[in-house]
Amino acid sequence: MIDYHLHTPLCRHALGAPADYLEAARGKGLREIGFADHYPLGLLGVKPHAEVTMSPEELPQYVSEIKALAAGEKEIRVKLGAEVDYLPGKEKELARLLAREPFDYVIGSIHFMDDWDFTHPYFAARFEEADLEAVYRRYFELLWQACRSGLFDIIGHIDVIKKFGYRLPPAALEPYLQRTARILKECGLCYELNSAGRAAPAAEFYPGRRLLELCCREGVPVTLGSDAHAPDQVGRYFDEALQLLREVGYRELAVFTARQRSFIPLDGGAGKEAPSAS
Ligand code: ZN
Ligand code: FE
Ligand code: FE
Ligand code: ZN
Repeated sequence: MIDYHLHTPLCRHALGAPADYLEAARGKGLREIGFADHYPLGLLGVKPHAEVTMSPEELPQYVSEIKALAAGEKEIRVKLGAEVDYLPGKEKELARLLAREPFDYVIGSIHFMDDWDFTHPYFAARFEEADLEAVYRRYFELLWQACRSGLFDIIGHIDVIKKFGYRLPPAALEPYLQRTARILKECGLCYELNSAGRAAPAAEFYPGRRLLELCCREGVPVTLGSDAHAPDQVGRYFDEALQLLREVGYRELAVFTARQRSFIPLDGGAGKEAPSAS
């Protein structure tokens, strides 16, 4: 099995050295892991209220540290990824910046709506005052823009707007989910089943079952990540996650090398990389 969403202490809100995450992965019997730490917002000229990414100066260190870890490891494949914030208006700059890094994959995530870091517990109270329908509309509009930007290989925690348990009724949410699945398909994108949502107030994977079903029906590829911010979170809830993926109809997981996608079977096998079907 794989875990494609691991952080490092460079982002200032994760614990444990990359080697500790690797050992945790070994303990869980994983065959492949990928680090996807928070790409420096400073490179885009953005300084959020809370420091949540590595600094521009730390990016070369991150790249060389993960590359060295990968080179020294014989059993588990170690991939170099990044979790990159989608910021409207910064697309050209970001495309140029990402092209110069040797990433295996880039996860595009939305953590900011304008200046609101809405996934940060410190700023969650703002949901109380907000017009939830408007917040969801804004979130999904940003998400669809991110999909269409062509910047990303994987869309991260795709319905993270539910993180703190503020939800639209299912009927109101449905059109957003349907459109999201369609846009992922049109854009040829992959998304992740991110198991961290299970431990958040939302108490559900990102995305929930309904969006997984819609994406599977559209033939949108999925990958798997724990969003671990500590070594003991590596592979968290993966038995449950795999069961859910099977139930909705998935049979394979996407993996990436040098930003090229291929697939491994969801069940069994040594997780050997198979040639891409698409
Ligand atoms: Zn984080
Ligand atoms: Fe994130
Ligand atoms: Fe993350
Ligand atoms: Zn994340």
